[in-house]
Amino acid sequence: MNVECPTCKKSVAWIDSNTYRPFCSERCKLIDLGAWANEEYRVPAENSSPDDLDQGDQGDEFTRH
Ligand SMILES: [Zn+2]
Repeated sequence: MNVECPTCKKSVAWIDSNTYRPFCSERCKLIDLGAWANEEYRVPAENSSPDDLDQGDQGDEFTRH
C-alpha cells in the first residue's frame, strides 16, 4: 500500500519500517508540522559542522581570557 507524502506528494510505502509515514522523510514531516519555521530545524546537520568549529574556537578564546 502506498500513500502520498503530504508535503512533497511523493509516493510513500505505508510500512512499519517507515517511521515517518505518511511522510517520505523526517524532513517532510517537520515541514508539515511547521517545525521549519523554528530556527532550530533550519540548519541541516551537514552545514552545522563549520559553525560548531567556529564556536569551539571562540569558546577556547573565552576560556583563555
Ligand atoms: Zn516528502
